[in-house]
Amino acid sequence: MKNYDVAIVGGGLLGSAFAWGLAHRGLRTVVFDEGDNAIRTARGNFGLVWVQGKGLGMPEYARWSIDSSLLWSEFAERLHHETGIDVSYSRRGGFDLCLDEDEFNSQQELLETLRAEALEQKYEYEVVEYAQLKKEIPLVGKISGATYCPHDGHCNPLRLLRALHKGYLDNAGVYQPHSRITGLRVLKHGGFELLTDNGKAVAMAEKVIVAAGHGSAELGAQVGLDMPIFPDQGQVLVTEKVAPILEYPTNYARQTDDGSFLLGSSSKDVGYSLETDSPTLSEITRRCIKAFPKLESLRVQRSWAALRVMTQDGFPVYQQSESHPGAFSFACHSGVTLASGHALIVAQWVEAGTIPAEFQVFHPRRFHV
Ligand SMILES: Cc1cc2nc3c(=O)[nH]c(=O)nc-3n(C[C@H](O)[C@H](O)[C@H](O)COP(=O)(O)OP(=O)(O)OC[C@H]3O[C@@H](n4cnc5c(N)ncnc54)[C@H](O)[C@@H]3O)c2cc1C
Repeated sequence: MKNYDVAIVGGGLLGSAFAWGLAHRGLRTVVFDEGDNAIRTARGNFGLVWVQGKGLGMPEYARWSIDSSLLWSEFAERLHHETGIDVSYSRRGGFDLCLDEDEFNSQQELLETLRAEALEQKYEYEVVEYAQLKKEIPLVGKISGATYCPHDGHCNPLRLLRALHKGYLDNAGVYQPHSRITGLRVLKHGGFELLTDNGKAVAMAEKVIVAAGHGSAELGAQVGLDMPIFPDQGQVLVTEKVAPILEYPTNYARQTDDGSFLLGSSSKDVGYSLETDSPTLSEITRRCIKAFPKLESLRVQRSWAALRVMTQDGFPVYQQSESHPGAFSFACHSGVTLASGHALIVAQWVEAGTIPAEFQVFHPRRFHV
């Protein structure tokens, strides 16, 4: 049985970003990924690298989202340079479109509060009235207005996942697909053993990261990690491809680098169901057509549902086990946005064996106060 510096359970967006970062820091790393039988959120998301509106009540999360967005250009370039895979990251800023006055007012209120909470940190955004918006985005229909944030952008999330995997493998990372880990055994003299379904030990590692998305709670509990997460279903539609007509990503729709439009997205409590339903898809389409009337003429090619990894307050859960130091777990609902921070920063914490004090706000003990 092989011995590693770090074993990661989960090869989704979080696990792959940590794996990439750790392998680039020279650590002997293995990733175990269950595969298609598991819930895989990384393959169903919207591809936004989004800051706007995030972090109400927890300025540290707003800051972390901004910092990750600031790291994204360098990160995308590194991925492209080393793997030849262009993740099509674009950072022209993004528009949060407000379809009516109520939405416009509450969006402005939200961003004003975020700016006030940010205190000495800068929280950049602009309120864009309809006339100005129409100049910036000629495609837009008659809506109330929008807010604009220069930190927002988007990428191709499937290529992001592929680039992370390739960059990891090219740096001596070991990837074990179709490998469901069911047990974590704490070793007497330090470190952990990872067990599969039949109780067989498949690897030993000094440290372990539980980044198995919806599979994390059960596994984490074995090593003193509390993962208070639940599924939040989102549905997305994709249209046929057309010539570029929308330069900016928005909260309702974005045009991908291959020309199709992604329309989204919803938020529903339906347990672990991955079924789409007509009322939800119709509502998404209605909103997107109000925002961009021209989209009505495009054919929808496909729709799907995926499950966000959600917490009660919407903020990430980052922790190292107090009973079994060396065991870490991480979960969040914005794994695309935070991919740069996870790869370039969080990997350093795992190597150092400590989560910095300023990130202790992400510890799940906050739910028990
Ligand atoms: C509709 C929708 C839209 C979204 N849009 C955006 C967006 O625009 N921007 C953004 O930043 N984020 C977005 N997200 C969120 C983003 O996709 C997630 O944050 C991210 O995918 C979570 O990554 P993860 O690695 O935690 O989980 P996953 O991607 O689900 O990966 C978990 C992995 O763990 C594996 N696994 C599970 N159990 C085990 C086990 N026991 N042993 C081994 N392997 C196991 C699974 O096979 C899987 O590959 C969106 C999500 C949804 C649902």
